[in-house]
Amino acid sequence: MPFSLHGIGVSRGYAIGRTYLLQRNQLEITEYTIPDAIVEDEVQRFLTGLEVARQQLQDIRARVPATTPNDVTAFIDTHLLMLQDATFSEAPIGFIRTRKCNAEWALQLQRDALVQVFEQMDDPYLRTRKDDVDHVVRRVQHILMAEDPSYLSDPDYADLAPSRLEGRIIVADDLTPADTILMQHRGVLAFVTEYGGPLSHTAILARSLGIPAVVGARNARAYLGHDEPVIVDGRQGVVLVGLDERILRYYRHKQKEERQQQRELSKLKGKPAVTRDGIAIGLYANIELPEDAAAVRDVVADGIGLYRTEFLFMNRNDVPDEEEHLASYLHVIKVLEGSPITIRTADLGADKQVDGGRGGPVSTNPALGLRAIRMCLKDLGMFRPQLRAILRASAYGPVRMMVPMLSTIQEVFQVLRLVAETRQELRDRGLAFNEALPIGGMIEIPAAAVCAAQFARYLDFLSIGTNDLIQYTLAIDRVDDEINYLYDPLHPAVLSLIHNTIQAGHKAGIPVSLCGEMAGDPRYTRLLLGLGLTEFSMHPTALLEIKRVIQDSDVGVLNGVVRRLLRTTDADKYAETLKAIAQN
Ligand code: PEP
Ligand code: MG
Repeated sequence: MPFSLHGIGVSRGYAIGRTYLLQRNQLEITEYTIPDAIVEDEVQRFLTGLEVARQQLQDIRARVPATTPNDVTAFIDTHLLMLQDATFSEAPIGFIRTRKCNAEWALQLQRDALVQVFEQMDDPYLRTRKDDVDHVVRRVQHILMAEDPSYLSDPDYADLAPSRLEGRIIVADDLTPADTILMQHRGVLAFVTEYGGPLSHTAILARSLGIPAVVGARNARAYLGHDEPVIVDGRQGVVLVGLDERILRYYRHKQKEERQQQRELSKLKGKPAVTRDGIAIGLYANIELPEDAAAVRDVVADGIGLYRTEFLFMNRNDVPDEEEHLASYLHVIKVLEGSPITIRTADLGADKQVDGGRGGPVSTNPALGLRAIRMCLKDLGMFRPQLRAILRASAYGPVRMMVPMLSTIQEVFQVLRLVAETRQELRDRGLAFNEALPIGGMIEIPAAAVCAAQFARYLDFLSIGTNDLIQYTLAIDRVDDEINYLYDPLHPAVLSLIHNTIQAGHKAGIPVSLCGEMAGDPRYTRLLLGLGLTEFSMHPTALLEIKRVIQDSDVGVLNGVVRRLLRTTDADKYAETLKAIAQN
């Protein structure tokens, strides 16, 4: 009998194939006491475990073909850096010596401490990075317990010759970046995991590799048989089982359509994003690492609308200095060859790990606490080097600076004062910069959206961060699975705040863009056009599809329908009008 499993579709596309169920050996980590005489041997055993893990990862890294996207290898590099980091080795060695406990347990204690810090972070991306800690810890623990950490060379799967994975749909609890990379080379068709969300490793890697994926499909391995024919719909987040000829025909057709669509979309590279009624729309890309800039150039975006700089602060105990900031910005400027780049100042959470002990104690509501510009203004030792580097980078290309999480205009004044001071410092040092560096702000707190006119008066541009705006407007944690169903970009309050911000920008004569996930979701493109949006910034892989929708839209018509939508108080009419917008 046909049935379906539901998860989150995180990488589009359809796959039809047979499952390959992966059961990872569960490690049982227990504490036991080490006699005094061999405590140093235990420390040595631990260090050897770290070294073997490092060699394994380097081996995998060396096998990554040159064509693999950079963000894939970046994950392996992150794990290698973690293995070399003192946070990873010093504390467990201390535990072995003071508690006289075994190496596996010492590592587990440090893992728990690190994961707790990550869980307290307000930035959802960084919070998801606790998976990195788990993956590295698990690898070392497997080695210490003489178990193999990899699915693919797991004793249960020792016969996993590449040909056995070819054309298979992998079903697992979760996948490490190393697993994902190895599987890609074995011709895997799709991934289904029981855990993870849109920001998990599997999601990010699957998107980069262009492999359909559904994550968060709870108990998938209990419901799906090994070698069972299934369909993975990475768009809807559905796994279909018990296939009959009718379903198969339908999905084969969808697959064909999808391939055709991809071919058509690639023809749009370099073509202008102009609506049917002649309105030119700017399409920009969001990046997280300097290496992502290549993908921006590949889809011929108008520039970078959001360069998240938090990566510079990760996996270290100190803060990046001016030169480090500058080097990463210059790399992006060089790759973009004259297209504008919007560098966002650090959007770090109330956390010690990322920022080297800054930020004070972890608060109970980190998303409402010392985050982003609040933290930067409190910690000028961290903020000033970034300001100097952004200003210096502006001498080399069309750079803009963007400030996240503004809630009061006083924060804008403080930033402007600091920028003025920084300019003077650079002049004194005889260093070049753009005197007219545009300074913009992210509107992602309802208070700022309501008072957008005030912000528009003092800033050069605004960018709407809907990921946070939705979270703060609807009072729902954007990464909490329990209340995910309330995360609604179409809530009238959200649309009203977006509309108010766009209007405020237009009245002040400054550009307004939108750089949250909504910008890259074709279901919302017409609505946003109707709300008056003329600049979108999104993941580079979404850009061409959004362009296609734009070219097929009439802003004049959409403006009228959206005006009606914003006026309506009738819930049914609201839903009907939304439907009409999507079809216009
Ligand atoms: C947003 O909040 O919409 C945004 C783009 O910023 P981030 O996702 O980095 O918080
Ligand atoms: Mg945000």
